[in-house]
Amino acid sequence: MTQPKAPLLAENEKRDIAPALLEPIEYRKSGLSLNHIIGCPLDCAYCVRHLFHNYEMKQPHRITDDETAASMLVSHKYFQPNITPLQIFNRATDPFLPTVKPHLFRVAELLDQRGLTNHLLIITRSRVSIDDCNRLNAIKNLKITLLVTYSGIDDKRVEPIDSNIAIKTLTRAHEMAENYRVVLYWRPLVSGLNDSPSHIKRALQLATHAHATVFTGLFFREEIQSYYRKMGLPEPVNLPARRKILVRSLEDRILTEWHKTGRGPPLFRKTSCAVSFAHRLSDYNGHYGIRELCDICPVDQIRRCADAFRKPEAQAIADLALSLGASAIPTIDDRAIQTSGLNEEPRYFMQHTFGYQVHDIRHPHLPHRHGRAEIGWTDEPESRTSSSED
Ligand code: SF4
Repeated sequence: MTQPKAPLLAENEKRDIAPALLEPIEYRKSGLSLNHIIGCPLDCAYCVRHLFHNYEMKQPHRITDDETAASMLVSHKYFQPNITPLQIFNRATDPFLPTVKPHLFRVAELLDQRGLTNHLLIITRSRVSIDDCNRLNAIKNLKITLLVTYSGIDDKRVEPIDSNIAIKTLTRAHEMAENYRVVLYWRPLVSGLNDSPSHIKRALQLATHAHATVFTGLFFREEIQSYYRKMGLPEPVNLPARRKILVRSLEDRILTEWHKTGRGPPLFRKTSCAVSFAHRLSDYNGHYGIRELCDICPVDQIRRCADAFRKPEAQAIADLALSLGASAIPTIDDRAIQTSGLNEEPRYFMQHTFGYQVHDIRHPHLPHRHGRAEIGWTDEPESRTSSSED
């Protein structure tokens, strides 16, 4: 039976869409991201589509066809075969919505037919069927990771979709996984909303149905705050932030509970770490340089990352950075490369080229904060502000 597909957006409808959303490829932290379908009916209040003023588009629409999208991806100036991690439909829709998944599989199959072995990250909170799992298993070359978003948020005004759908997807996909891997994407964690002891215990129990689990916080930008205010929703924090918010006390409580399980299900702070571990590969984002991130990582995985970790040559860094438009020669230390004048896309290109963290010198990543917003981390005790670079 032919599945219904997302309708093509008419030219006159495109006039109302933010230009950034009409650009289907964006280099994000976890990879080069393909988003040629926009629109979603799931109504998560914290959706990043608020940033593009696209939240009211409930029906998924196509910007272009799958063949064009796949070929745009592999001919993108920052695409490197077998190296660049890829993501699909992680910005403006859910890949397993009924009218979206035919496009997901078509693009995945087109890329796979090229023999590409790049990572492909697929993030969903929708229902994934047995047939869907079989189709994922049929992908032979790409390293597919299904990241199943689960928050446990009970407030239907914030997250209307039933969490049991994600639970069913997770357990089924994990049971059926042969050629793909399953990550429990435990997010967004919000203080006061889904951080009770029972929420944490429940998520850690679910983590036993995944190859790895990553926990992370909430993006709360001004546009999202405006929506919360308009709808009269309880605001998770007073001020919006540029980075994800996950307060230190909540991370501590999660890790304390996790230690009680005997460090049971593998738990990670970074998406790329969870994805890489699930495939038994070293972290492609070079987080190993940020040594304190690794204190919860399985011993075998630490060894894998240590073996692969190489500080790049200063000359190679300078040459690449300057060719990408850097305004100064980058500095490098044992943790990261610091660049000036490069926006996110060339920085991520450098990061995936070298397998080494690449930061903007104006936005330093502070020890132990793991690139998160400063909310809830500013009263650092001494033991947490000292670097652990050994
Ligand atoms: S060793 Fe460190 S960098 Fe590697 S996967 Fe574990 S936490 Fe990430």
